[in-house]
Formats: sequence, structure tokens, C-alpha cells
Amino acid sequence: MRSIYSYSLEELTSKMISMNQSSYRAKQIFSWLYKKRVSSFDEMSDISKAFCAVLKQEFDFSLPTPTVVQESADGTIKCLFKLEDGEEVESVLMHYVYGYSVCVSSQVGCNMGCAFCASGLLKKKRNLLPHEMLGQVLAFDKLLKDKNPELRVTHVVIMGTGEPFDNYDNVLSFIRNINSPFGIDIGARHITVSTCGVVPGILKFGKEGLQVNLAISLHAPNDELRNKLMPINHAYPLSELIPAIIQYGKDSHDRRVTYEYIMIKDLNDSLACAKELYDLIKPTFGYVNLIPYNPVIENGYERSPNTRVKAFHNYLLKKGIKSTIRKEFGSDIDAACGQLRAKHKGE
Ligand code: SAH
Repeated sequence: MRSIYSYSLEELTSKMISMNQSSYRAKQIFSWLYKKRVSSFDEMSDISKAFCAVLKQEFDFSLPTPTVVQESADGTIKCLFKLEDGEEVESVLMHYVYGYSVCVSSQVGCNMGCAFCASGLLKKKRNLLPHEMLGQVLAFDKLLKDKNPELRVTHVVIMGTGEPFDNYDNVLSFIRNINSPFGIDIGARHITVSTCGVVPGILKFGKEGLQVNLAISLHAPNDELRNKLMPINHAYPLSELIPAIIQYGKDSHDRRVTYEYIMIKDLNDSLACAKELYDLIKPTFGYVNLIPYNPVIENGYERSPNTRVKAFHNYLLKKGIKSTIRKEFGSDIDAACGQLRAKHKGE
């Protein structure tokens, strides 16, 4: 039996057609699920008893349940989700001036092994299914609505534990689901996928015809440094990554990527690195998001001093590269960048 929440509207439409129903059925069910938020077929009053019985044979309503909720002093909320097989994932809700954003995990653990990230301490156990990603968004949306019925999740960033392009099909189905006007209707420009640089994923994503934002975790302006920080760079060095991003721009009608760049003291935060970064990304017209490093694991890396971050930022701005310094959320509840990871049992 498959969870009804694991279908995008397109997939549910094909499924309904295969069950000799009109395509309208899928929209009807989507509206019950995501507009009225019912959680059983019996509550769908315009579906006949007979067809309800058929639907019950095909689908269940399984969704991950949030088991731990921690709220930070800045209003950030972290949830731990228990999955059907007992695995756990974390996600975070952040409150910005422009709305509420959920940072969604896409895998249980992660195989990318980036030197600065706690998520990879636990190797990938499995990919998350679309309804397990959707459940993270729905749970936070309910939490907000319980506080105030007017509130809703407005943004989704797929930047939690896991590499989304190592789970491409499930992530795409999840994106199509949340982006559907018949679903929870999160605008494509309010959705961001972040990749460590899986080149085939970037190329495929450019051809999907979506207006979704793409972020690239770059973190270093040359192969020597990037190899040290991110093992993925051995498979897809900058000489392949940058052309793939240029191709992505062409295929996606000039959608710009955002580069994420963690600032680590005396490693990648010099003005020489800023210049190298500028030369590297100039042909791609991307934006740069500078992230103060969170010293989450014992690897000897330290956070770059604010003055260094500002000097790096100013250099990029002077060169005409749009750049921001990322605001930090939830560091007091282990919810900041790089801190999400499934807990060891009994830890
Ligand atoms: N695998 C995807 C998404 C998960 S990582 C990717 O690599 O993009 C999400 C973001 O958090 C990435 O930019 C990552 O580099 C950043 N991050 C990881 N550990 C961090 C740390 N210790 N401090 C600051 N940012 C970190």
C-alpha cells in the first residue's frame, strides 16, 4: 500500500485514469487532502462509498509524525520525525520577515562526507520518499495554523540532511506536489533545492521547466581546497561543475544559481580566495550567500571573524556580484546549518 501523500497531482491523475476514473478525481482528492486537510477517504463527502472502498485498498494516509519539538529563543522550531521503519530525520522552521520557511531533509543520513557538516557523520541509510518530505512541511504548517489559522509555510528549502540530487525522482515528485495550486501551493520561486554539485542532477534539473531556485554548495574557489572539503569534487571537479551551471542557465531560461560559501578561518576566507571565487563564477552570473561556519564537529576548523566575512563580502559587491551574509537561526537548539542529523539511538 502506498501513501496517498506520496503522489504529485500528475502522478495521481495517471493513477486515477488507470483506475477508470476521470482525471478530475485527482484534483478532488488533492483538494480534500491539502485545502481541507482531511485524513481519511470517509471524510471526502463527494466520493461514493463504493469508490471509497476501492481507494482504501490502494492507498493509506501514512505521514511521518513529529516526535520532538524544540523552540529556539529566536522562534526557530526544530522537529524530529519518526518514520515508519523507525528511522528519524530532523527539519527546521524559520521565521523571516517575508514568511515561514521549512528546511527539509531529503535522506536519512548522507553519503557526501563534507568535512564541515554534521549531517554526514551518519552515513546514508536510505532515501526519503515524497510523503516523508511532504510530512515535514505539513507538520510545520499545522503547528503554525494551531497558533493562528492565518499562518502558513510560505517557503521550502531542501537543505536539511541529505543530498537531494542523490534522491532525484522522489525530490522532484515532492516539489511538484507542494508547488501544485491544488496542493499546498508553494510558489516555485519560494522553493530552493541545494546540491553539493552532483553534475548530472544539475543538468537534468535545468530541463524540468520549473521556476524553482537552485543553490550550489561551493565553499571553495579552486579544486585543491574543494577536494579537501567536499569529496564530491573528486567525481565532479570545478572544470565540470561550472560548465554544468552555465548549461543549467541556458536550459532554464537564465535562472540564476545561488552559491553557498561557508567562511572558515584561514582556510577559504582570504581576499585572494574572494578574487579567485569572482574569476570562477563570473561567467555564471550567480549570487553568493556567505555562511559563517558553525563549528559543529571536531575538525580543527574555526569560524571566520566578522571582519574577514565583511571584507570578503565587500570585495564581491565591489566586483558587481550580488552577495549576502546568511542570518543564523536556532543555534541554541542545534538547528543551525550543518547541525541537523538523525540521532544515534540511545545517544
Ligand atoms: N547536500 C546539500 C544540502 C544539505 S547541506 C548541499 O550540499 O547543498 C545544506 C547547506 O548547509 C550547505 O550549503 C552546507 O554546505 C551547509 N552547511 C553544512 N555544514 C555547515 C556548517 N557546519 N556550518 C555552516 N553551514 C554548513
